[in-house]
Amino acid sequence: MKILNAVLGATALAALSLFSASANAQGYPERQITMVVPFSAGGPTDTVTRLVAESMSKDLGQQIIVENVGGAGGTLGAARVANAEPDGYTLLLHHIGMATSATLYRKLPYDTLNAFEYVGLVTEVPMTLLARKDMEATDLKGLIDYAKANQDKVTVANAGIGAASHLCGMLFMSAIETSLVTVPYKGTGPAMTDLLGGQVDIMCDQTTNTTKQIQAGTVKAYAVTSPERLDVLKDLPTVKEAGLPQMEVGIWHGIYAPKGTPKEAIDKLSKALQVALKDPNVAARFVELGTKPSPEADATPEALKAKLEGEIARWKPVIEAAGQYAD
Ligand code: ASP
Repeated sequence: MKILNAVLGATALAALSLFSASANAQGYPERQITMVVPFSAGGPTDTVTRLVAESMSKDLGQQIIVENVGGAGGTLGAARVANAEPDGYTLLLHHIGMATSATLYRKLPYDTLNAFEYVGLVTEVPMTLLARKDMEATDLKGLIDYAKANQDKVTVANAGIGAASHLCGMLFMSAIETSLVTVPYKGTGPAMTDLLGGQVDIMCDQTTNTTKQIQAGTVKAYAVTSPERLDVLKDLPTVKEAGLPQMEVGIWHGIYAPKGTPKEAIDKLSKALQVALKDPNVAARFVELGTKPSPEADATPEALKAKLEGEIARWKPVIEAAGQYAD
């Protein structure tokens, strides 16, 4: 009888706490929200997050502050959110790395498909293959010849294993069947500083970080990974035109919350995301940066969940073939 009472008591407590989480969520949000970027400030994920967070905060009526938790290719920031209180006040904006790290890491501190609630897709950004300004190669063929001839000394910057820049660098090296020296950073913001300073040779990064530099001629650009050329970088050939169609890739971004975040909060966040993606200021900035907002229908939990599952399956064999893992 004592045991039965204890079980009933525990069940009642659990029901009560679910009820109160959901009751609390009705007035959500009542205070400031934190959105974690799993890379350094000043990089492409940070840029996208700050733009979207500012617009979402207007719809939500509460400030969204951005917290940069860089390191280990985005997995440290993802772990921070997986372990946060599931109350809607800690969110994660992450990209394709959420899918690739599920295969790249033999051990992750969270279970990718079960540790999060999904808010929705944000944008899909192409990558651009770049080199320091004084790189002698003037086209992709020249860069490949240079890389093959100097394999032991050519350095490729990335934001750690699991970052989009890591994936793109891996696609480049696999396509040209040459492995180069990789240099990991906590984000491609600081990596770009080193590329501009000539401390690293090559980087493949999102247009949200590279468009301005390419337009200003401060880096050499060889190709864009989208199927079509971009309006803002008309002279830049696609990877297909330049001869490496294997490098075609789009870097999608999504917003997540810790597993167990009340549905009321998720619904409000998805709606605020949809409003932000229709915000003319956000749309105009995205165009300048060589990207565009996700369609409203994709700024939903269902669309992000389907994308993540599909992308884990898509990249698993590619990563396995490249034989690259992290512990
Ligand atoms: N998006 C970059 C990457 O994955 C990292 C960053 O945003 O700083 O390489």
